[in-house]
Amino acid sequence: MKKYLVILLVLFQPNLFAEEVNIYSARKQNLIKPLLLRFTEQTGIKVNLVTGKADTLIKRLEAEGRNSPADMLLTVDVARLARAKELDLFQPIQSAQLDALIPSYYRDIDAQWYGLSLRSRVVVYAPERVSPGELSSYENLAAPEWKKRVCVRSSSNVYNQSLVASLVANLGEDQTEAWAKGLVNNFARSPKGGDRDQIKAVAVGVCDVALVNTYYLAGMLESDQADEAQLAQQVRLHWPNQADRGTHMNVSGAGIMKHAPNKTAAIKLLEFLASDEAQQWYGETNHEFPVREGIAISEVLSGWGEFKPDTLNLGMLGEYNATAVLLMDRAGWK
Ligand code: FE
Repeated sequence: MKKYLVILLVLFQPNLFAEEVNIYSARKQNLIKPLLLRFTEQTGIKVNLVTGKADTLIKRLEAEGRNSPADMLLTVDVARLARAKELDLFQPIQSAQLDALIPSYYRDIDAQWYGLSLRSRVVVYAPERVSPGELSSYENLAAPEWKKRVCVRSSSNVYNQSLVASLVANLGEDQTEAWAKGLVNNFARSPKGGDRDQIKAVAVGVCDVALVNTYYLAGMLESDQADEAQLAQQVRLHWPNQADRGTHMNVSGAGIMKHAPNKTAAIKLLEFLASDEAQQWYGETNHEFPVREGIAISEVLSGWGEFKPDTLNLGMLGEYNATAVLLMDRAGWK
């Protein structure tokens, strides 16, 4: 009995954890919390999570300056990581483990941020109106045969901005702008809704093809809501640009703040997020692709087959974000 009392007292000690890490996270809580709890279980390091919109968190970090309690910023798009770097909010990290585990094109060249899980922006199509042979690349979606057949969300969406930035990096600004104009001409409707809404629009015949992130389709296919799963089953996935540079990739990733009060513990957490266990969890629970090779992925993801990813250094997407935003605007992409 005495023993249990002691355990209870220890459990409710506020200073039980000698070490802690403070994260500002733009991820939905349920898509990261279970992993953080595992980290605490394994290391005894407590994790304090502040969740919010990436732009709001970045503003907060700027305002807090060197008094910020934050050790780490976690985002779901590389453009925000690049922004934080540009604003001098991160510090370079030295971790041989991270450098060995994470491919160079999925991390910052100055080691200021690391990609932790992958999402790919792909084409979904209606198999009864589109044959797979008609699809080839992002570029091809601007061709006249797709007139009034394309759905995509707004240009204010950062996933679209990163995709367009990848085209700027690969094709140059002029060619990308001409492409964006062609794509806008092919819109079946004015952009609205999120990626799930584009999948639904293809399923119900509003459009024939749409650009969406892979995990939205996987999430709908695995949904407990029968109607959502049923709509997702109506569409098929195409991996664009397999004949050339590969499909556009984006990351959810993190960096360590310049004034991090708990830098060592924060690096340990980053290393944990790149570990086998965490990487497998990303693949199986979030329907994201692990950032490392040789990690098991969910059945839905493996069902889409192997594909060639674009290995452009993701830092370039941050570099071309502003160019992308301006040219989408000039092209009339609402
Ligand atoms: Fe998302």
